[in-house]
Amino acid sequence: MRTLAIDIGGTKIALGLVEQGTLVDRRQIATPTVNDVNLFADTLLECAGEWLSRCDNIGVSTTGLVTEQGISAINPDTLAFPAPFPLAQALEKKSLLPVSMLNDAQAAAWFEYTQLDSQVENMAFITVSTGVGGGIIINGRLHQGQSGLAGHIGHMSVSLSEPKCGCGQIGCVEAIASGTAIQKASNQCFSPPISNIELFEKADSDTDAEAIICQSAQAIAILCCNLKACLDLDVIVLGGGIGLATGYLTRVNQAIKTRPAAFQVPVVAAKGDYDACLLGAAFQFRE
Ligand SMILES: [Zn+2]
Repeated sequence: MRTLAIDIGGTKIALGLVEQGTLVDRRQIATPTVNDVNLFADTLLECAGEWLSRCDNIGVSTTGLVTEQGISAINPDTLAFPAPFPLAQALEKKSLLPVSMLNDAQAAAWFEYTQLDSQVENMAFITVSTGVGGGIIINGRLHQGQSGLAGHIGHMSVSLSEPKCGCGQIGCVEAIASGTAIQKASNQCFSPPISNIELFEKADSDTDAEAIICQSAQAIAILCCNLKACLDLDVIVLGGGIGLATGYLTRVNQAIKTRPAAFQVPVVAAKGDYDACLLGAAFQFRE
């Protein structure tokens, strides 16, 4: 089976040719202005070019909330789709191929699940990068929920008082733990401002830098224990630029160890790296 995989992000769109589960070719374009769904679909298919005639289907992963009607934005700052944005329908009509579409973190969760020991039935994937996202596997199947919202775990609230999140709630994990939140805390602490990469390098010798990173890791640890309490997960897979940064996973696991044994859950590093969403887009067609 050959799949055209498309991963739509806020700044870039990756396209891949996936044969028997392996990414054999890859292209990338800057995300164009999103207004007309037909123009947007044409841009994607033009970029796929000669791959298209060799593909059996098209798998899409995208930022935003995916429903049968199309894509809409939970956080319009990432990518403001005119809602609903019926991209799957437009691609299907133009390519005459079956099209399947998932939220990007759900797609990455599904890919990561396929990379685990088959004994695992219940898993969550958490990505800590610009935001905090995720996906949930229950009884060996991706759980999307009736409205497609399942796995938006960055918007689980873990604090009654602060900070305010872009989604409209108070105390979301994303508002405490994301790369954006880390950068905000860092900017209040260091002048001139430093990047998050520099912050991680500084943490060994600077208690303020360490405290900022620990605050994030502790919020993720609470999220992990909440998910364990709610879903009795076998394992949690952690990814994203912050999630995979040196020492971050260790900090999360240390924070989990301080909590009652019943809520502890093993957290391991993601394998898919930067192409997990793209591969997940293609892996939708694999059971
Ligand atoms: Zn939120």
